[in-house]
Amino acid sequence: MKSTRLCLACGNAFVPLLHVPRQRYCSSKACQRARRRNWQNNRLRIDSDYRDNQARAQAKWRAGHSSYWREYRAAHPAYRERNRSMQRTRNARRSHTPIAKMDVVRLPRPLDSGFYVLSHAEDIGVANMNAWTVHIAVLSAPPAPPT
Ligand SMILES: [Zn+2]
Repeated sequence: MKSTRLCLACGNAFVPLLHVPRQRYCSSKACQRARRRNWQNNRLRIDSDYRDNQARAQAKWRAGHSSYWREYRAAHPAYRERNRSMQRTRNARRSHTPIAKMDVVRLPRPLDSGFYVLSHAEDIGVANMNAWTVHIAVLSAPPAPPT
């Protein structure tokens, strides 16, 4: 009798492959992607050599593809603006605690159309991975408050 187990990613029951006795994720593409992502995140956390190698490989790749990205940015203004906006967010995050950021939000400053990085308040300052990039187009704005 074949034993089934529950996939760590989707929670569905699956039968482990014969040649992978310790399989913990089902064979679906999404769950295999999740498995690799978890493996890599864990590696990055526990293995400083792996972390250094990854950083070096990425830097090398960027160095070898700098003209590609320069041309891509020149041809895709929306992408360029999104990057600038995200960099501004990172810069702001660097110089403000999350509480200071809340104060920034409360300033009576008009919200301009543009790209914004949207993340859960609890995730601010933790990781960029859970952030959405959204484009907000202002269709109408409230009148300026009386001073
Ligand atoms: Zn699964």
